[in-house]
Amino acid sequence: MLVKLQDLYFKPFISEEKIQDAVQQMVDAIAVDLKDEMPIFVGILNGSFMFVSDFVKKYPHPCEVTFIKLASYDGVKSTEDIQRLIGLTQDLTDRTVVILEDIIDSGNTLEEVHRIFKNENVKQLIIATLFYKPEAYKKDFKLHYVGLEIPNKFIVGYGLDYNGLGRDLPAVYQLKTTQHMTNIV
Ligand code: 5GP
Repeated sequence: MLVKLQDLYFKPFISEEKIQDAVQQMVDAIAVDLKDEMPIFVGILNGSFMFVSDFVKKYPHPCEVTFIKLASYDGVKSTEDIQRLIGLTQDLTDRTVVILEDIIDSGNTLEEVHRIFKNENVKQLIIATLFYKPEAYKKDFKLHYVGLEIPNKFIVGYGLDYNGLGRDLPAVYQLKTTQHMTNIV
């Protein structure tokens, strides 16, 4: 019998259906609040690609979509050392910018996002995150839209990886073990 990789190393945590419901609720709320705007949705790569894709497919009004890339995430700990941003080329003056984050953990990445967008003369900067770990969050930046609050545990799937694995999975998992994981990548 074929054993799937995710069954060996990951245990189910959040179902595909629950994720899609959370995305739909975020879409519904944002679509009402921004119905008179032409927002530009900015996904933070790599982790947000699946969320942004599902989000904008459900979004009922015209919008723009782009991506930026910040620091990579090293192993299972949120790195303090956020690197510079790449990929922002548009003029965002007077635009309503909605940051679409896959997950907010310590908030270090979000702090860097704020630092960068402070200089862009945007009309408003709105933060929307699919997953949020309140126990880990150390900053004061307002989170305007949160999909699902989760405990301070490392998760994998729906765009989020562990050493490159699991990004492709449509549901979310927790690690069963970190032992032997390096042997399979
Ligand atoms: P923060 O800067 O808020 O500590 O973390 C934000 C980034 O860390 C996310 O965009 C994501 O790349 C990564 N991250 C935080 N928590 C997790 C997690 O539980 N699993 C995975 N795979 N990445 C995480």
